Amino acid sequence: MSLVPPILNQNVPDRLLWKDRYAKHREFSTYEAWDNVRSRGEEVHWAELVWFSQCIPRHSFHMWLVIKNKLKTQDRMGIWDAGSATNLNLMCCPLCWNGKDSRDHLFFQCLYGLQVWNMVKDLAYMETVDANWDSIMNWFYQNPSGKSSEFLVGKMVVAASTYFIWQERNNRLFSTKQREATLIANIILHTVRMKLMTFKPGRGSKSPLLLERWKSQVKTMSIDPG
Ligand SMILES: [Zn+2]
Repeated sequence: MSLVPPILNQNVPDRLLWKDRYAKHREFSTYEAWDNVRSRGEEVHWAELVWFSQCIPRHSFHMWLVIKNKLKTQDRMGIWDAGSATNLNLMCCPLCWNGKDSRDHLFFQCLYGLQVWNMVKDLAYMETVDANWDSIMNWFYQNPSGKSSEFLVGKMVVAASTYFIWQERNNRLFSTKQREATLIANIILHTVRMKLMTFKPGRGSKSPLLLERWKSQVKTMSIDPG
């Protein structure tokens, strides 16, 4: 076996390249370095629902907790031993005062959550979807046009809805501040609209006209500063 000596080209300056996990040579970047050393698991089927390039990161993080059912809702806290000083049996959903809250209760069986959902679901293109968490997730999984603008807006509205309803739930638990469901619905739609405003035309969207129409639809809605 003979060794082939490397071909050195004196006219080209040397470059430092890194070999990635597929043995391809690349320029160094912190993204590549992290992507190569991070631990990996199987990609979950809802990954695209939570993390996508146009997402609002704090909403996505929250949505991740919702999908994993890891929010500290009262049904989950009820099984903890909190000691005699706290009677967890007395806990009640601070939005409707009708039993303990849970992920499925808040999104959107709770009367308050349902009110919010009914005001935003049309603009999420989910008017025919039942107002319960399983139906909403099934709609996402079965949607044949998962990359469409409608789907993108739907993901953003659902994530924003869970985020702001959870925020209102916590506000009511830990302060006396209360906001009407109408105001929360308006905050959800305006937050998504503000995010859509940052999109460059055509970027991540097959139907920029639809997004433009959506933005102007929400713009005409009034918001009560509360
Ligand atoms: Zn409730």
